[in-house]
Order: sequence, then C-alpha cells, then structure tokens
Amino acid sequence: MATVAQRLEEVKSTLPATGVELVAVSKFHPAATIRQAYDAGHRCFGESRAQELQQKYDQLPHDIEWHFIGHLQTNKVKYIIPYVAMIHSVDSIRILDEIERQAARIDRVVDCLLEVHVAQEDTKYGFTLQECADFLAQTAVDTYPHIRFRGIMGMASNTDDEVQVRAEFTQLKQLFDNLRAGVMANTPCFDTLSMGMSLDYRIAVEEGSTMVRIGTTIFGEREY
Ligand SMILES: *Cc1c(COP(=O)(O)O)cnc(C)c1O
Repeated sequence: MATVAQRLEEVKSTLPATGVELVAVSKFHPAATIRQAYDAGHRCFGESRAQELQQKYDQLPHDIEWHFIGHLQTNKVKYIIPYVAMIHSVDSIRILDEIERQAARIDRVVDCLLEVHVAQEDTKYGFTLQECADFLAQTAVDTYPHIRFRGIMGMASNTDDEVQVRAEFTQLKQLFDNLRAGVMANTPCFDTLSMGMSLDYRIAVEEGSTMVRIGTTIFGEREY
C-alpha cells in the first residue's frame, strides 16, 4: 500500500503547477499520520472540529497552517481563533460577527471564506448565491477589521452525475468572478475559490478552483 507521502505526491502531480493550493484534510486522522505528510514537506491541513484542531495544534509543529472547514458553532469560535489560518465555513452573519469579536479580543486578523450552498442536499450549510452577493454588496468589509475576506467556499452535490457537479462548480466560479469584478474589486486579497474534494477536485480545478480540500485520497478512509 502506498504511504501518505506517496499519495500526497500523487495528488500534487494531478494539480496545475501553480494557482491551486492543496489543503490536506486530516480530520479524524491522528497526529502521527499528519506528521508523515508534514515530514514530506506539506504544511497546510484542514480540520472540521474545534477541539480536534486545538489538540493537533498542541501535538504538531507550529509552522502548520490550519484551515477550518467544518460547520462552526458560535460557542466554539473562541477555541480556534488563536490557531486557525483560514476559516472556510463561514455560513452565517452570526458566525462572522463572533469571529470578528473573538479575533479582536486577541488582536488577530483571520482569513475567512463565505460558504456558499449550491448542492442539492438540504443538509449543507451556507449562504445561497444570492444571499452571499447581497451580503457583500450591503456590507462594508471594513466594518470587520479583524476579518480578511479572502473568497468563497462551496461543495458540489454528492453524486456521480458529473454534469450536475460541474454545473454547481460553474455557479460558484461565476459568483466568485462577479464579486471580484464588482463589489470586491477594491479588495485584492479576495482571491480564493475553495472547491473540490477527493472525488470531484479534478472537475473543480477545470472549473476554476484555486484551493482544493482533499482528505481520503491522501490519508485513506476516516474512522469516525
Ligand atoms: C471532509 C471534507 C473534505 C474532504 O473530503 P474527502 O472526500 O475526504 O476528500 C473537504 N471539504 C469539507 C468541507 C469536508 O468536510
């Protein structure tokens, strides 16, 4: 069986040489497994639970960039703010307000992506395309001095219908482009379109993803 380092290399070899960042999604995998990817030179990992992120931060070298990708509860925000490099899953104004409040307390600026819901499943969190556009049109980003609005994140439906998956990624890309040309035109750091997971990242990259979040292909199946 291939090692973590080998699978990491394999995934990287399928990504364009520049322009697409790889978040290695390490949720539910132990620190020792993450360490293998770290020793192979990788520094960017994704976690989906606040407590797990905190524990792994303590167990692993501090030059790791931790990305938070799971649904975030308001009362958990304070636990990750000191450690997190980017929050992909900002799915409500309430959470955004709490991130601002907690980041201000420790005088940090945190990179955030607004999560946009395009998939068919109704279990997924996030703003609709319209809500996201409206929110950014109506909100002066400098009312959130401790948040750096970096872009949007989305997930496609969990289906093997490639036409549907591609269409959903296209919707995210169109929103991203419209925002960049429109209300976010004066916010040059709004440069990140986080889309694509193990089963669909190739399509996501073809549709313009700048950041993929890949777990299973690198680390194997998760044990929940
Ligand atoms: C778990 C997760 C991933 C990674 O999924 P894989 O299928 O293991 O690559 C990516 N994004 C989010 C938001 C996740 O929760």
